[in-house]
Amino acid sequence: PHPATGGRVWAEIDLGAVRDNVRALRARAAGGADLMAVVKADGYGHGAVPVARAAREAGATWLGTATPQEALALRAAGDTGRVLCWLWTPGGPWREAIEAELDVTASGHWALREIRAAARAAGRTARVQLKVDTGLGRNGCAPAEWPGLVAAAREAEAEGVLRVTGVWSHFACADEPGHPSIAAQEGVFREALATAARAGLDPEVRHLANSPATLTLPSSHYDLVRTGVSVYGLSPSPEVGLPGDFGLRPAMTLRASLASVKRVPGGHGVSYGHRYRTPGETTLALVPAGYADGVPRHASGTGPVLLAGKWRTVAGRVAMDQFVVDLGGDTAAEGDPVVLFGPGREGEPTAEDWARAAGTIGYEIVTRIGARVPRVHL
Ligand code: PLP
Repeated sequence: PHPATGGRVWAEIDLGAVRDNVRALRARAAGGADLMAVVKADGYGHGAVPVARAAREAGATWLGTATPQEALALRAAGDTGRVLCWLWTPGGPWREAIEAELDVTASGHWALREIRAAARAAGRTARVQLKVDTGLGRNGCAPAEWPGLVAAAREAEAEGVLRVTGVWSHFACADEPGHPSIAAQEGVFREALATAARAGLDPEVRHLANSPATLTLPSSHYDLVRTGVSVYGLSPSPEVGLPGDFGLRPAMTLRASLASVKRVPGGHGVSYGHRYRTPGETTLALVPAGYADGVPRHASGTGPVLLAGKWRTVAGRVAMDQFVVDLGGDTAAEGDPVVLFGPGREGEPTAEDWARAAGTIGYEIVTRIGARVPRVHL
C-alpha cells in the first residue's frame, strides 16, 4: 500500500497517461485544431490541478470548467493560460473572473448585462464566449434569440467593455455516431456562425466537439476540441469504441487493501438485507471501500474486483464504507491487494466494467470517487 493513503482505498492517477492521451487527441484534431482539456468536477475525479498541469505540458492550450469557482481555483494554483468556464447563474463572480482573465460564457441577455456591469466596475475588457443551443436543449441561447444576443454582444464590443472571443455549442448524441441529431446540430451551428459573422463578430475560436465528436467527427472540430473523458483515457461509449482503439489509456486505478478475511459456514447472510447467502462453507474477504468512496450501491451483487488473481463479484450490498467478496475455495490475507478498476493491464476490471455493473457510464464511476479517497499522482 502507498504510505500516504493509510492503505485503505486510494486512487492512483497516471499523469503520463494523461499526457499521452492529450497528445493522441491533439494528433486526431482536424486541421490542427487546438485542444481544451476539460477539468471540471475535480478533473473528472482525477485531481483538477495535477491533471491541468499534465495536460498543459502535453500541449493543451485551453482548460475548461463548468463553474467559475473551478476556473478561479486553477488560477489560484498558478495556471496562467486560457481557461473557459460555462456554468453561470445570476450574481456569479463575473468581476473576479474578468480580473483573473478567464473566458466567461454568455448564453443569454441576463449574462451579457451582468458581464457589462462587472467589466465596467473592474475597468477591464471581458473575454466573452457566446453559447448557442444547437439542439441539446440544455444550456445555451435558443436559435430564435441568437440574432438578438449577437447584436447586443456586438454593441458591447463597440463600447469596449468586452470582446467576443468565442462562439460555441455542445452535442446531445455525439456518443451515438450516426445519430440524426448530430448533422442537424452541425447545421444549426453553421447558421449561428454565419449570423455572428454578419453581425460583425470575429471570434478567435469556434468550437463544438466533445470527446466522442473529437474521436469520430472531424467536421465538428473547427478551431478547438473540448475533450474531457478521453483525456482520462475512458471511451465516451461502447458505440464509439474502446480506449485502445484511439491510443488512449485509463489514467485512474482504484486500489484497496483487504481489511478482514474469515471462514464462515454455509447459509451465512452477507451485508445489509442478507441479499447474498453463502452457498457452502467459504471464506469472505472485506474490502474497505463503500458508496461514500464512490463504489456504486447499484453494483451490489454485480461489481467486479481483481483479488487473489481472479475477478470476484461484490457479495450482497455495497455499504457506506465497505463491501464483501466471497473467495469460494481460495484464500487471502488481511492487507492483500485488491484492484477495483484500472486500465486493465494487470487483468483488473475497468471503470467501464463497473459502469456496466451499476447501470451507468464510466464518467459517473470516476467523478463520484469520494473526497476521502486519497489521489496519488504518479
Ligand atoms: N464541453 C462541455 C460543455 C461539457 O459540459 C463537457 C462535459 O460534459 C465536455 C465538453 C466534455 O465532454 P466529454 O467528457 O464527453 O469529452
